[in-house]
Amino acid sequence: MTSVAPTLSDYRALRSTGTPSFFALPPAVELLRDRVREFAETQLRPAAERADDGRGGFDQRVLDAGHDIGLLRMIVPEEYGGLGHGILGTAVVMEELAAVCANSALVFGANVLAQAAVLLSGNPLLQSRYLTTFADEEPALACNVVTEETTGTTEVVLQGRFALVDDGLVARRDGDHYIINGHKRHVTNGRLASWACVYANLVGRSGSVGLTAFIVPLDAEGVTRSDTPDGPGHGPCLEAHLDFTEVRVPAENVVAGEGNGEHLSALQSNLIRASVAAISTGVARGAFEIAHRWSAHRRLGGLPLFRHQSGARKLAEMSSKIEAARLLYLQAAHQVDNLLPTPSYGPAVAKLFADRIAIEVAEEAMSVLGSRAYARECGLERYVRDAFGTLTHEGTPETLAQEIADALYPGGRPYSLDPPAVPVATDAPRPVVRRLGPSESGGW
Ligand SMILES: Cc1cc2nc3c(=O)[nH]c(=O)nc-3n(C[C@H](O)[C@H](O)[C@H](O)COP(=O)(O)OP(=O)(O)OC[C@H]3O[C@@H](n4cnc5c(N)ncnc54)[C@H](O)[C@@H]3O)c2cc1C
Repeated sequence: MTSVAPTLSDYRALRSTGTPSFFALPPAVELLRDRVREFAETQLRPAAERADDGRGGFDQRVLDAGHDIGLLRMIVPEEYGGLGHGILGTAVVMEELAAVCANSALVFGANVLAQAAVLLSGNPLLQSRYLTTFADEEPALACNVVTEETTGTTEVVLQGRFALVDDGLVARRDGDHYIINGHKRHVTNGRLASWACVYANLVGRSGSVGLTAFIVPLDAEGVTRSDTPDGPGHGPCLEAHLDFTEVRVPAENVVAGEGNGEHLSALQSNLIRASVAAISTGVARGAFEIAHRWSAHRRLGGLPLFRHQSGARKLAEMSSKIEAARLLYLQAAHQVDNLLPTPSYGPAVAKLFADRIAIEVAEEAMSVLGSRAYARECGLERYVRDAFGTLTHEGTPETLAQEIADALYPGGRPYSLDPPAVPVATDAPRPVVRRLGPSESGGW
């Protein structure tokens, strides 16, 4: 197994020095992290390297092995056959995966995002029908479907509202079903997922009822999947475009009530952002580990690179940034799991910071490796590409900055756990805010 550079907040490193740790992870999370670290090194790394060399796409064996250790049911409650972890456990797993393969972190992370919608629905029927799939023998995937051709960042966050546009996904009621038509773009897991949490503009007799989320089985008649163009990073994350033509969905598949989609989506984002921040932290760590090894190997003027002051300074700066990013995402995950006030602020701060340092650390790693950085076999190129990848999903730097600023200034419009300001059209149930995972995150 490749050695991982010891880190200040690594519980085992602290324990081995006898230092009592304020940051001890709960034992169940520590156990999961160790399992995932081994899985990442033994199974994920070879698959990621093969894919990066163009010798394969997403490897089904990775999905199977991830399923074996529970990565497809991390936040699924135990009563539905899951591991019952919260966002803390999920985020720790995401760092481990992304330190080796950010694509795979995205695949397992998008699955969690879709499951979170079902958990937040508080609807036992949806939960027992759609969460239990992940305990089946065969691995199953889900996806979360928001992005449209014209509804990107601005509509979702910067204006504080979802815009309901003409060419977006539209749903209409038809007896005890809804009928969905339109197009969605850039859906992680879209190629393989068995069901999706799909956001559509629900239109009634007198106009738009509001954004509404539906659970849609993707084998339903009228659903078409198509490949997305090749991108610079996050390659095989099973991304697809999804088209919907007269797709019939039972009325019971509405998540959290008609017109409550905006609020549900904001809650999902708050839940998942600590994990996406952990992905960026993992990418930074992966790049750092390559530079860390190289600095011991490379001798200049008779000394290893890290013995030269400027080389040491670079490594120390990189390591410090990763430590800070990790503490921020752990704190944000703890806030989310324990429903502390304004949980939107902590996750947004964690993601903004981690996204930024991933790029900075990847850049520094390039400079540490010098000309070797340009040799594909050193493996750094992938991390440099992936460092930019998480900038686009679950909040761009601009949208995160706006959300943070809104929380800092009274009179702004921060997302919170309060109901949305806009009136909703029905008295159907709202999203249920429930504690995820074990009741105690432990050790904090
Ligand atoms: C690898 C990958 C996986 C993805 N997975 C999913 C998925 O599973 N499900 C899904 O629904 N979507 C997914 N997406 C799509 C992603 O969520 C969108 O790309 C994201 O919401 C940004 O939208 P956009 O690309 O249309 O960018 P735009 O909205 O066009 O934004 C482009 C840039 O302009 C900035 N900007 C926009 N408006 C303003 C403004 N008013 N002021 C200042 N700056 C502004 C933005 O911050 C951004 O930097 C994925 C994307 C990628 C790359």
